[in-house]
Amino acid sequence: MWRPAGFEVRRDVIDNSRMLDPAFKFSQHSLSDFADCPRRFYLRYVAKQAWPLIESGPFKQDAQEYQKSLWRGTVLHRWIERYWLGVPAQSSDDAELNLWWARFTGNRFDDLPPQRLPELALVAPLGDYLLYARFDLLALDPAAERAVIVDWKTLRGERPPRYRVFAERFQTRIYLYVLATAGAAFNAGEPFAPEKISMRYWLANFPDAPWVDIPYSADEHERDRRSLLALMDDAARREGEEQYEMTPDESKCSDCTFRTLCRRRTGEPEQAAPDQWLDAEETPELDY
Ligand code: SF4
Repeated sequence: MWRPAGFEVRRDVIDNSRMLDPAFKFSQHSLSDFADCPRRFYLRYVAKQAWPLIESGPFKQDAQEYQKSLWRGTVLHRWIERYWLGVPAQSSDDAELNLWWARFTGNRFDDLPPQRLPELALVAPLGDYLLYARFDLLALDPAAERAVIVDWKTLRGERPPRYRVFAERFQTRIYLYVLATAGAAFNAGEPFAPEKISMRYWLANFPDAPWVDIPYSADEHERDRRSLLALMDDAARREGEEQYEMTPDESKCSDCTFRTLCRRRTGEPEQAAPDQWLDAEETPELDY
């Protein structure tokens, strides 16, 4: 490239000029992106790089079918939110959506705490950072000082993921941590005891075993605090694109929107990691 005589490339300025916004809120999406591929985190949250490549789905779904299933997930979440708010039921000519809705309304939810707050967002401070969570539903029992976070999932597959997959995913660790740390406003001004909160996933596509319940404890709260803080420190303290390296595991590139930008191969993965299963409600725009 031609440059005027005496012109020097200021790599310190060019490479380090777009660092993380000080008001940035970490979330399950951004931390999951960073753990999967630091370069994806950089492109999405530091550089805010738009890349016009449609996101394809796991399980060798074609992009159009994947987008349709994201749409179904979005509509289901909206219908469920309205249900808890007392808004009359909806209808659709989409058979799968109607099937999920019938399964949802077939539940009595009697064992959930009686007070129901849909679509509740909470932000917890952690070190120098902020950690964001948005619960599909928070069910509260003020008398027992107990709370259950409920999340509606439209995961596909022959079998549901194992319990460990749900228990270890970023969403679970972050949601439980945020509620235990920043939920005092929902417990008469006192933080919830970690043992009094839990997380429940409802699996729309697995009616024979639709619930996955994950308890919490003070030890796990402390372990989550340390591990999440270490990860956020790592993500926030790097400088410049080069320090956010590309993942060596190219299977993570197959359904990544930046795969042509990174010149990674575009073939479908043999099998997507379960933690990559995104519902429509979990799109990363919430992180911006
Ligand atoms: S294409 Fe691969 S290397 Fe590039 S951002 Fe996505 S996951 Fe990372």
